[in-house]
Amino acid sequence: MPAERIQVEAIARAKSADSRRAVREATEKRYAQRESALAGLRNAAEMRALASSYRRHALDHLGHYLRRAEAQLTANGVRVHWAADAAEARAIVREICRAANAKLIAKSKSMVTEEIELNAALEQAGYRPIETDLGEFVIQLDGDHPCHIVLPMIHVDRRKVGKLFHEHGLGEPTEDPEALTMQARRHLRAVFEQAGVGISGANYVVADSGTIVTISNEGNLRLTTNLPRVHIAVTGIEKIVARQEHLAALLQLHARSATGQALTVYTQFLRGPRRPGEAGGPEEMHLIFLDNGRSALLGGEYQEMLQCIRCGACLNVCPVFRAATGHAYGGVYPGPMGAVLSPLLGGEESLSKFAQLPKASSLCAACEEVCPVAIPIPRMLLSLRGDLHRRQLKSGADPPWGPWAALATRPRLWRAALGAGKLSRATGYGALRLAPMRSIRSWLDQRDLPEWPRRSFRQWWRSRQS
Ligand code: SF4
Repeated sequence: MPAERIQVEAIARAKSADSRRAVREATEKRYAQRESALAGLRNAAEMRALASSYRRHALDHLGHYLRRAEAQLTANGVRVHWAADAAEARAIVREICRAANAKLIAKSKSMVTEEIELNAALEQAGYRPIETDLGEFVIQLDGDHPCHIVLPMIHVDRRKVGKLFHEHGLGEPTEDPEALTMQARRHLRAVFEQAGVGISGANYVVADSGTIVTISNEGNLRLTTNLPRVHIAVTGIEKIVARQEHLAALLQLHARSATGQALTVYTQFLRGPRRPGEAGGPEEMHLIFLDNGRSALLGGEYQEMLQCIRCGACLNVCPVFRAATGHAYGGVYPGPMGAVLSPLLGGEESLSKFAQLPKASSLCAACEEVCPVAIPIPRMLLSLRGDLHRRQLKSGADPPWGPWAALATRPRLWRAALGAGKLSRATGYGALRLAPMRSIRSWLDQRDLPEWPRRSFRQWWRSRQS
């Protein structure tokens, strides 16, 4: 689908009152669950400081721990690959699938595979990747994109799921969540049995033991990583943890922050392919470490963003995300973490494409407050605003507030513009929508403008004086 069309559809979805209400309710619920789960943890503040220091330590010595992890993983029988960017990662996955002679691929939820647009690349090459996480499965059937990094389909209601499943021949029309889950389960069991390759992400990679750690709440991840003959894990280079014992704090905070659970239902420690005499597990196991702009952040003012463990807590608490929904961010990573990460990952193209995201924040700092690894997101949003502005000035482009500054420094023009604005509001901004500038029209398409106040600030101020 052309990028422009995807964006227009994303905006339409974001503007749908139903999906906004669903997102708001789901994020508020998760936030409350997180609060009560953390309230039950005696030493939550100390654990947060520890988790943050573990992530910082791994990133400060990333080269060392990546080499250590590679040596341990290789000794455990895992084949380690390095991908500089999304294209390289896709090519490595395609080559493994070709060598495995697999057409059907079982996939479990992984944001990094969304980042590299893996499904589209596999489909183009003639493979059939099937998402097996229930939410991702629905999203794939609908030709949609995840709305949230932990809860991909919070914007979709069960009526729509029932309709989709019926249209795709999964079963009789129903809106009963249990019946719908059973329909998906029957369909996906066959996928697990027939898939030649299983693809997953990795939540953590432990350097000292060469362990790939995955966490999930649905059994699909265990089946994806165990039933197919070949397992491929794809992860960012930043997911390294120096020592196994560091997981104690990270896993406890991860689950509490993401879903309000003490631990996720399934926590897997994968240490290589099936060994002689073992009943289960893949015969072949691969781990792809993806850079895609991450190493450029090391040692700089945005390094702390790489501490992110993708728990989604900052999305759930963010007033902008709750109102706008994930699709409005236009990228794979939405919410406050996405407003920093999206412009920084993927090079020059991402810097221009996502230049507006750091401005889409009220800087209320709730994201930093809830972050289990204490990432200073507001400070980074401010730095990015400055950096992107300096970049714009350097490129010779007009500063975006040029017209606004011209008005604001000329009182008569300002008053005339306010009068025109008031008049235009009375016609639903119809006059502005006829404006010849495409940028004004698309700006209006993405916003619901507020009612114009009956009295201006100046009028109100004067009435106070009299
Ligand atoms: S920035 Fe912090 S709160 Fe947000 S997803 Fe990452 S770890 Fe979670």
